[in-house]
Amino acid sequence: MAVEADVVVLGLGVGGEEVAGKLAAAGLSVVGIEHRLVGGECPYWGCVPSKMMIRAANLLAEARRIEGMAGRADVRPDWSPVAKRIREEATDDWDDAAAVKRFTDRGGRFVRGYGRLVAPGVVAVGDDEFRARRGIVIGTGTAPRIPALDGLAGTPYWTNREALEVEEPPDSLLILGGGAIGLELAQVYARFGVRVTVIEPSGRLLGMEEPESSAVVTRALEADGVTVRTGTTAQRVEYANEFRLTVAGGELLSAAALLVATGRQAKLDDLGLETVGLDPSARFIATDERMRAADGVWAVGDVTGKGAFTHVAMYQAGIVIRDVLGRPGPPAGYHALPRVTFTDPEIGAVGLTERQAREAGLTVRVGFTELADSSRGWIHKAGNDGFIKVIADADRGVLVGATSAGPAGGEVLAGLLVAVHAEVPVERLASMIYPYPTFHRAIEAALADLG
Ligand SMILES: Cc1cc2nc3c(=O)[nH]c(=O)nc-3n(C[C@H](O)[C@H](O)[C@H](O)COP(=O)(O)OP(=O)(O)OC[C@H]3O[C@@H](n4cnc5c(N)ncnc54)[C@H](O)[C@@H]3O)c2cc1C
Repeated sequence: MAVEADVVVLGLGVGGEEVAGKLAAAGLSVVGIEHRLVGGECPYWGCVPSKMMIRAANLLAEARRIEGMAGRADVRPDWSPVAKRIREEATDDWDDAAAVKRFTDRGGRFVRGYGRLVAPGVVAVGDDEFRARRGIVIGTGTAPRIPALDGLAGTPYWTNREALEVEEPPDSLLILGGGAIGLELAQVYARFGVRVTVIEPSGRLLGMEEPESSAVVTRALEADGVTVRTGTTAQRVEYANEFRLTVAGGELLSAAALLVATGRQAKLDDLGLETVGLDPSARFIATDERMRAADGVWAVGDVTGKGAFTHVAMYQAGIVIRDVLGRPGPPAGYHALPRVTFTDPEIGAVGLTERQAREAGLTVRVGFTELADSSRGWIHKAGNDGFIKVIADADRGVLVGATSAGPAGGEVLAGLLVAVHAEVPVERLASMIYPYPTFHRAIEAALADLG
């Protein structure tokens, strides 16, 4: 069978679904190809179920903070409402019928299957060919990066998928990887009574973020009973009813479950990229500021390597949609890329870290304040660990990066995000009126610390 359409979208995750749906709604004929679930990683095995777990785990943590501040609470964790909510409310038992209907109701043609480019403008799914008159959009996402760890293959290790489908938590859990995904899940499981150990080969957790963020997160996890093993390399793993992990130095760690959270990678080698002149051995698909990867080919989301976040996929989808429809808009830019690690405290960050700013050769000024030194932080008391750190380019007099760690770190980030994105002069930021006693009023103190 051969089908012609204006646009063929390969992969209907966050980015692909948005592009395909909006272009179909705009009146174009669109074929959307998805071999798993329409919506992708975020709603089924990523952002949404993990944040539901975090919401539940944070309720437990808040209840445990009652003692000494508001009386007593008898906290007895129960995982079953969490699993039920994920199954019933978030994922519809990992069924995408509603998402498929959303797309077809807009006029899109849905194809379930694994697609490959076979020639310029042509995608094949099995024996069927889909020809795109205007272009192809690739939104095939990323998959967990599985380390070449001796003994790991063949064991029932978890990736994010199994970790978010859990009906009954294990007694103990080893987590390989001290990045956002591993740490969010470490805290969740620890708060539900699981004995959790995080193994991270580098010297600190959240290595891409500020060292102060690593310190806050480490303190928080340890307070929840998580064993944090930085500077520790896994060497070998065995499984016989439980996981036995040998780390460098010969020490043996054991647990009922093992979560591999060592990063994500785009899988480009089986998409037929070479047929449109793209490199299938590259790490990501390179794109220009209109998200074009080649003549008649756009890429969107994780696969572009610009930040594996839902908000990046959505942002890029908007650019693709405008470009396909021939409606000019601002080009893609990432100088104010926000990211939030949803641990408690949350770590929100935007733009450059201090180190990145120095490596970029900027004249760097740093302002820092502890949240506990702010009125709101002091009032908040239990669970008030956090800080605001701002990174200024002294030559231009603007912020180029900032971190807000604290009970509402991701929300407090909003003001800093505007500042970095719009390049608001530091002088103007410092002359603003910050409401008392909010957490975000601490931004004023961090700005004052810039000197
Ligand atoms: C545990 C976890 C928590 C996360 N939490 C957050 C968060 O809090 N905030 C945030 O912003 N981001 C978060 N993310 C990241 C977020 O999920 C991704 O950035 C987002 O899903 C990327 O969207 P995408 O469209 O690029 O790819 P995906 O969502 O990965 O979708 C790609 C789709 O393409 C399909 N596909 C691939 N190849 C083919 C093919 N050849 N043919 C047909 N279909 C194909 C796949 O089946 C998949 O459905 C989290 C991720 C994980 C794993």
